[in-house]
Amino acid sequence: MKIEELLKDLDPVTIIEFKNYILDNLSKLCSTKNSNSKIITKFRKEENTCKKCGCKLYKNGRTTSGIQKYICSNCKATYSETTNTIINHSKLSFEIWKNVIDNLINGFSLRRIAEENEISLLTSFRLRHKVLYALKHFIEDINLTGEIQSDEKYFSINLKGTKPKKMPRYSKKRTSTNSPYRGISHHKICVVSSIDENDNLLLKIVGLGRCTTDMLKNSLGQKINKAKSITTDSASAYQEFCKKNNLILNAIPSGFHSKDIYNISEINGIHSQLETWLSKFRGVSTRHLQEYLDWFVYIFTMKKRFMLNKIKTESYSNIIINNNYIKANDIFISKMPIDLNIAYAEYHYQS
Ligand SMILES: [Zn+2]
Repeated sequence: MKIEELLKDLDPVTIIEFKNYILDNLSKLCSTKNSNSKIITKFRKEENTCKKCGCKLYKNGRTTSGIQKYICSNCKATYSETTNTIINHSKLSFEIWKNVIDNLINGFSLRRIAEENEISLLTSFRLRHKVLYALKHFIEDINLTGEIQSDEKYFSINLKGTKPKKMPRYSKKRTSTNSPYRGISHHKICVVSSIDENDNLLLKIVGLGRCTTDMLKNSLGQKINKAKSITTDSASAYQEFCKKNNLILNAIPSGFHSKDIYNISEINGIHSQLETWLSKFRGVSTRHLQEYLDWFVYIFTMKKRFMLNKIKTESYSNIIINNNYIKANDIFISKMPIDLNIAYAEYHYQS
């Protein structure tokens, strides 16, 4: 139902009363027991089908808290409106979810999110990871077309949250970068960063050490769709990649900022934005780095697509819809995106 439709026959006095009522009761109205399932009913994009046999689902009453239930016409499996969504098994109201999403868009720390919403630090941690996980689908749908600028960004390995006995044993001689190697080595994580002419952005962890053609194939290679050219200043890995993908390579010679009309100022600008943004989190553990990169891409993309005041409401539907469910336990066992046995081979490390 359109809000304009709802209000069109009301007189101005009633509209003002309506507005005041909404403002006075906003919190209550957004925190009813079925507030989350109402959101899903409104925003669900795909048709609701059975996960077991693919058949159509029919409405099958409601739970005591008012959540719509469904039954499969064929195998009789039952589902609820929240099955497989981020809010499955969540006792928190939409109001809390909404606030946490707002807080994350504003870049609040875990501690502040916990305080603002009167939840524990652990819940705050879980919610953040659930929200970041929910964006996977959004990020997966981003493809790069036309003219692309590409570069790499290297990160130090950060083992924050790793148990002391699992730490590699170089920590006695800690340097500022946590690694005895200078520059790019197998102690650095390579992130391929590319942006196309329509501001579609890719930030993907590809492995350890200097970027190779294989790393490009497994990241950028999966994302290009009707791409024409790649401009980069780190040409060696791109030569073979561009040849195989029929792309024009505009290599900027080292020491130069541009070649003819081509430059990589866009991607360089993103690198500095990313650095500033990540520094707010005071050290992101490597285990969760990709989630933070996804979160950066998400906010970047939303800012390009929507006016600032629309980003938050759009985000509620992006995050609280289909197939975004992750078990709390799976957050804690999320895999390292790089192989620590290779990174720390010289320490005879075994993860
Ligand atoms: Zn079925």
